[in-house]
Amino acid sequence: MSTIKTVNPYNGKQIAEYKEHSNSEINELLSQSQNTFYDWKLTSIPERVTLLKKLSNLLLKKKEELAALITAEMGKPIKQSIAEIEKCSTVCEFYAINADDFLADELIDTEAQESFISYDPLGCILAIMPWNFPFWQVFRFAAPTLTAGNTAILKHASNTTGCALAIQNLFEEAGYPKGCFQTVIAGHKKIETIIENDIVKAVTLTGSENAGRKIAAIAGKNLKKSVLELGGNNACIVWEDANLDLYLDTMVNSRMLNAGQSCIAAKRFIVVEDIYDEFLNKFKDKISQLKVGNPMDTSTDIATLARADLAKKVKEQVDDSIKKGAIVYFGNACKNTTYQPTIITNVKPDMPLFNEEIFGPVAAIIKAKNRAETIQMASNTKFGLGTMLFTEDIEAARAQIDHIEDGSFFVNELTKSDARLPFGGTKISGYGRELSKEGMLAFVNKKTVYVK
Ligand code: NAP
Repeated sequence: MSTIKTVNPYNGKQIAEYKEHSNSEINELLSQSQNTFYDWKLTSIPERVTLLKKLSNLLLKKKEELAALITAEMGKPIKQSIAEIEKCSTVCEFYAINADDFLADELIDTEAQESFISYDPLGCILAIMPWNFPFWQVFRFAAPTLTAGNTAILKHASNTTGCALAIQNLFEEAGYPKGCFQTVIAGHKKIETIIENDIVKAVTLTGSENAGRKIAAIAGKNLKKSVLELGGNNACIVWEDANLDLYLDTMVNSRMLNAGQSCIAAKRFIVVEDIYDEFLNKFKDKISQLKVGNPMDTSTDIATLARADLAKKVKEQVDDSIKKGAIVYFGNACKNTTYQPTIITNVKPDMPLFNEEIFGPVAAIIKAKNRAETIQMASNTKFGLGTMLFTEDIEAARAQIDHIEDGSFFVNELTKSDARLPFGGTKISGYGRELSKEGMLAFVNKKTVYVK
């Protein structure tokens, strides 16, 4: 039987070794999920909310320990890991407050005595999740999905298997019935057969385009719903009237948070030429102040990428762009798992830095002639997660709303996920929405009831 080894990317030391589940163990997990579902869906919403609140408190109580696990497994600076755990607690609180309202029958006036939509859970939902926010990605799915009455099986990224098991333990410790939330440890082939299993009613994936195409194809062949949260190549547009003094930190954060390993990061900075030189100088000043170091040090801003192969891929994308004329303006040192915060200028649409997702701390800077060209360049991408625009001209920003084809448009703010707002993409960034009421209704049967 195969095993999975987790390794601390900062110091290269092995953390643990896990045995993959056998076929019979997987069948056991699936049956458990189904059996638990039959009871769980009959519990009242207040009962589920009580558990959700316990879960939220438990996250806060254990945040130091859980954050240290995130940092050990994927190298995120510890202060960001703590913030991630706190955000998970917030999403539980949000759904604890709103579940009753979101799941209430929706009356619709017809000639019938009574007609309404009833939101019923579907059953066992498979969640395939990435390593970059190993708790947040899971909680933003699990909090609403379980509270809606479903059960869940998690297939986490192999390098964050410890986080996956810790999350299962949290659900159990909070008092969720056995089988409500389970982690499966298995390779891709086995996961594909799990999707095909009748017990699994739908699948959600947060991950790469490649994985999205494979998972959606299997789900589609088996006529099961899928939600896909895939990669992004967000533009951060800077108009000539942008307030750099106020917003530069936001822009830097948007690119450099989590060492640039975020789907919604600002990846392409598209700057109007009138402010280009000023932007570049001030941006470089900020980037050069980021503290690079040990992820367990609370003052560290950037530590390491999550795996050496990821750093190598970023290096290849940057090198390829340089061959096509891009210029290193700052940084670009890369060794094993580390990549220095980097600024690359002269980026053009035919370069990987413009047309591919760069999952590392590399800011691609693009000069545009005017406002119109920034918008045209921003949407010149296969991805569709979000666009950011920095300007003091809010009326002109509003006028762009209809031209943005992405899942979100943020003005004077970084693209971020917020429990209150729907989150998701268009084009090859995927489909479906998480968070808000939309996220809670992602895996329910919207049943029409009509009583004449
Ligand atoms: P990935 O390689 O696609 O992996 C994501 C998850 O999918 C992992 O659990 C992986 O398992 C699993 N997986 C991949 N192929 C599979 C298959 N054929 N069958 C079953 N499971 C499969 O992505 P990643 O490199 O870890 O994550 C980075 C990507 O995720 C980026 O593109 C990023 O933009 C995207 N992302 C999107 C969002 C969003 O909300 N839109 C949020 C975060 C990240 P293994 O680890 O075992 O391979």
